[in-house]
Amino acid sequence: MSEPTLAGRLASVQAQVADAAREAGRDPDAITTIVVTKFQPVSLVRELAGLGVHDVGENRHQEAQAKAHELEPLGLRWHFVGQLQRKKARQVRAYASAIHSVDRVELVDVLASDEASVDCFVQVNLTDDPGRGGAVGDDVLRVAEAAEAASGLRLRGLMAVAPLGEEPARAFARVREASELLVAQVAPDARDLSIGMSGDFREAVHAGATHLRIGTAITGNRPQAV
Ligand SMILES: *Cc1c(COP(=O)(O)O)cnc(C)c1O
Repeated sequence: MSEPTLAGRLASVQAQVADAAREAGRDPDAITTIVVTKFQPVSLVRELAGLGVHDVGENRHQEAQAKAHELEPLGLRWHFVGQLQRKKARQVRAYASAIHSVDRVELVDVLASDEASVDCFVQVNLTDDPGRGGAVGDDVLRVAEAAEAASGLRLRGLMAVAPLGEEPARAFARVREASELLVAQVAPDARDLSIGMSGDFREAVHAGATHLRIGTAITGNRPQAV
């Protein structure tokens, strides 16, 4: 059998997302698949664009900025999904359509702006490791309140990564609970859920994901980090 191509992997993931949506009684068109292209060359992002991909994700500012700049004519939407340093945050705002990793009030303060709104998600840390990025406990709503109040940010909802060693469905149920609190207490319109990666996107669709962040299942293995 021949190696699957990028087009083949993309079509296969799209079909699986659509199947999972139908199983869950959901509209597949209500789910945005973001192809995470971190560590992948610009040529691969270009190829994805040629295959009809509009949403791409990156997790390192310098790499994302360079790619977004070089590929600007393609009109892609860049989603920043990595840990965000305070001193880089304003620069990320300049090219990102959405920032999925807002996890502390100080970032909201730096990202607030009179310029056109950028979508943002408050990242929830589902692990016991505070180094993983994401807000925990009451801080989730505190960061969300700040984002909801800030000008130049449009709070879309919550983002999370399911921890290794936990059933993804259980992890996503915890995000759902936090999302229900957020919608009830802070921001009635911030219903979106950025959950689901290569290994757990079907579970994420069942759990109500509106944004999937899928890397290797579409791109193939990532080149080694340099
Ligand atoms: C790399 C990354 C992804 C994609 O991971 P895959 O397992 O390759 O699908 C999704 N979300 C975040 C935050 C990432 O850093």
